[in-house]
Amino acid sequence: MPENQAGPVIFAAGILMPVSSPPLQDGAVLVRDGRIAAVGDLADVGRENPDVEVRFFPNYTMIPGAVNAHAHLGFRRKDAPEGGTFSGWLGRLIERLPEKEAWTAEAARDCAREAVEAGTTYMAESSPYGECLPQLAESGMAGTVYAEFFPHEIGTPEEAVEFIGAKARELGEGLPERVDARVSVHSLYTVDPESSRLAARRTREMGWTLAIHLSESPEEVEFVRDGTGGLADIFGTNEWGGAGVSPVSYAQGVELLAPETIAAHLATGVSEDDIEVLAQTGVAAAHCPRSNDFLGSGVSPVPAMIARGIRVGMGTDGLWSSPSMNLFQETLFAVGLHGMSGAAGLELATLGGARALGIEAETGTLDAGKWADLAVVETSPEDRDPALGVLEAAAGGGVAATVVGGNVIYNRLGR
Ligand SMILES: [Zn+2]
Repeated sequence: MPENQAGPVIFAAGILMPVSSPPLQDGAVLVRDGRIAAVGDLADVGRENPDVEVRFFPNYTMIPGAVNAHAHLGFRRKDAPEGGTFSGWLGRLIERLPEKEAWTAEAARDCAREAVEAGTTYMAESSPYGECLPQLAESGMAGTVYAEFFPHEIGTPEEAVEFIGAKARELGEGLPERVDARVSVHSLYTVDPESSRLAARRTREMGWTLAIHLSESPEEVEFVRDGTGGLADIFGTNEWGGAGVSPVSYAQGVELLAPETIAAHLATGVSEDDIEVLAQTGVAAAHCPRSNDFLGSGVSPVPAMIARGIRVGMGTDGLWSSPSMNLFQETLFAVGLHGMSGAAGLELATLGGARALGIEAETGTLDAGKWADLAVVETSPEDRDPALGVLEAAAGGGVAATVVGGNVIYNRLGR
């Protein structure tokens, strides 16, 4: 259980990396009512608040917590379906859905724990009908569960969208302050165009964000363009492919693309024209490079998207397509893949995810006014590139404590 912090507290570390400003030696954040009240040198913050308890981690680096912009909690590391091709993998996953029911809740608890122990403070989780919401809510993380729906299981597009909207509202009752439930249009090949359009309209009317998987695989590109390939008979109900356009263009046509939308993957067949559409519609991207690698989906053009002003965050996806729930490992993989700097990677893992989800005023950096969402990481003072060093340390099991809204939800140091 999270250790609730009643009064104000000062968290301090040998190095403080707010991400929004340069690192500080012996830096501190003053936390009051769950939010950051001040950031600065420990000496100054301590002097100005002499009665406040100080929790000082001298040989550690303090960073904003990881914001996971696209994850699935309900999978386990054991017996993942074979990768290689996306449609083959998805077919095997669907076959095993009935068997999976017996262990989904346990897997979700384990995955949430793994994410917390890797410094994750916010998670955007997608699961069928929001089934992993209880485990996210219990974990102490802040986050949103996006309830995926499959219209052929429900009824007409109108009925399906009505059902999932009501489901998300019902799931949203009685949750912890920073946990909520929203809707996901799972993908272009599982949700028919009319349901997609209605869901996009209804969720925007509610002021809700919307999660989708988009342009993830060669098979998705083929299905949308030609109506053929490995995804043309998924569920045996999707006869609407063959639109002759790219997935991004098709998604725009059914009104899925807007600033409220977080599109996961964008790994295959994303052209320069598509990047322009994504930029102009204001859609955000969740980058899941290890899942894309495992499923043979290609490489998302992330540097070009960032250069065009598209908001990009990182996502681990789930354990049946990805090796871990550690967002810093995911980010380190992206840093290698795209030749990015450590500082750019650290920003993607934190502020980038917050921007993608539209919550950058609330979390993603260590700044006064935001929630105190942070990770304390064991680092070496010899690191020549401190941002890359802390990313490597956090990826390698170096997270020693995780704090969400001022509550210490993980602490292996006991201080
Ligand atoms: Zn996914």
